[in-house]
Amino acid sequence: MKDIIIIGGGIIGTAIAQALCKYELDILLIEKECECSFGVSKSNSGIIHTGFQSKYGSLSATLAARGNQLYTDLSIDLDFPFRRIGELIVAHIDEKQQLEDLYKNGSLIGISEMKIVDREWLAIHEPNLSETISFALLGSTAGITNPYEACYAFFENAKANNVQFNLSETVENISQLNERWEIRTNMSTYQTNFVINCAGLFADKVSQLADIECETIFPRKGEELLLDRHVGELCKHIIFPLPKPNTKGILIIPTIDHTTMIGPTAEVIDDKEDLRTTTASKDHIINSIKDLGPVIDPATIITAFSGLRPATKLGDFYINEDRKGFINLIGIQSPGLTAAPAIGEFVTSIISKNIKLTIKKTYISKRKSIPKIRDMSVSAKNTLIKKDSDFGTIICRCEEVTKGEILEAIRRGAKTLDGIKFRTRCQMGRCHGSFCTMKIMDIMHEELGIPYNEITKRGHDSYVTI
Ligand SMILES: Cc1cc2nc3c(=O)[nH]c(=O)nc-3n(C[C@H](O)[C@H](O)[C@H](O)COP(=O)(O)OP(=O)(O)OC[C@H]3O[C@@H](n4cnc5c(N)ncnc54)[C@H](O)[C@@H]3O)c2cc1C
Repeated sequence: MKDIIIIGGGIIGTAIAQALCKYELDILLIEKECECSFGVSKSNSGIIHTGFQSKYGSLSATLAARGNQLYTDLSIDLDFPFRRIGELIVAHIDEKQQLEDLYKNGSLIGISEMKIVDREWLAIHEPNLSETISFALLGSTAGITNPYEACYAFFENAKANNVQFNLSETVENISQLNERWEIRTNMSTYQTNFVINCAGLFADKVSQLADIECETIFPRKGEELLLDRHVGELCKHIIFPLPKPNTKGILIIPTIDHTTMIGPTAEVIDDKEDLRTTTASKDHIINSIKDLGPVIDPATIITAFSGLRPATKLGDFYINEDRKGFINLIGIQSPGLTAAPAIGEFVTSIISKNIKLTIKKTYISKRKSIPKIRDMSVSAKNTLIKKDSDFGTIICRCEEVTKGEILEAIRRGAKTLDGIKFRTRCQMGRCHGSFCTMKIMDIMHEELGIPYNEITKRGHDSYVTI
């Protein structure tokens, strides 16, 4: 008998697990993929929004603004990368009113550190922007993170505090037994006092398993393009055009790893598994960026990827205890990454109305990240290599990732090539793993003891050899 079962190990499920792991609770998280962060949370822009693009009074505005505040301490305690670089929503001469409306919306939400800047300011601080851009709303609290590293930091901290993670296990049926819930998966049956449904794109299906009606989730695809490291950062801030009803528009995003990403598109589709990228979307992104100023050379695009936002007609997050002991989180689309820690707090407050929460005496509040050789000074590198010579063996040349980092990723739970990539960046550079994939597979074979033909890119049947 569990106190709480969380369904879904994306950024939301792991943030909730991390928020609840400080209390004396027996918690199980069930995730159908073989690793956490393999759903919507693996493909997003990595922006920690200010919150002012969400409408005042909406749950997403409140939780995004609060989530944004929480990221500073969390990133320090759990040692994942986060930088407040600020965002600019840009406008032409006749569009200033729309910036003033956004400013007013932000003030009502309670967001500080906003100001409208003019062409003179933009010419000094963002010289790559088009001269036709006359004004911008500067939100200084906006930041960037690495969404997988944040997710794995929450996962590792929750695990260190005894949250049980059952991966590669799919919830197939949910029934209510008096005051308890029974959850049947493809592997086992569990009973619990509380169910937290944060199954992302499939949260509506999971709710239906429990016979609870909810909003239908329809996927809204967002394609993004990553530029080669040699392009560097095209802008210092995250650059947004003026938002449209269903999208924040095509952005210029300086990434946490000092590269540039452009996108995402916004296209409503039917298929929750359709992650294809298209030339039409690529052209659309390049043309939209041209309107902002920078001209993108297509040869500098090293990869395209897409993610599906779990959108609903409500257009806002829905988080509610829909039946006693069953909390539904539906429609957690953007700014879900931003809001995740605040969603953890929000869900904790719902639970606390039903269960007396006592802080664990053994609670571990800190976590250390995998050392990153490429970011270290020469003397720090030498000290680490003296302690462990595997940190002196480069495996991924493009991103300067060592054998020591890959081994550390595996020891922390990576079982697939993508799991290692998301934790270390190896295979993320210009050559896309042409040089390092075989070497990573050798390490996986040795460390995990799996035959080469059972190594997968991202679980299921994504085998890399036959
Ligand atoms: C293109 C794009 C860009 C974005 N950019 C940003 C941004 O810059 N900033 C921001 O704040 N937000 C952004 N978002 C939104 C953000 O990525 C999402 O809000 C967030 O990732 C949702 O996380 P989640 O945990 O709810 O979903 P997921 O990560 O999908 O997690 C849900 C998990 O549930 C599992 N699951 C489903 N069904 C079952 C079952 N039956 N049994 C067991 N497990 C199950 C899935 O496998 C999945 O891992 C963006 C989204 C997209 C698509």
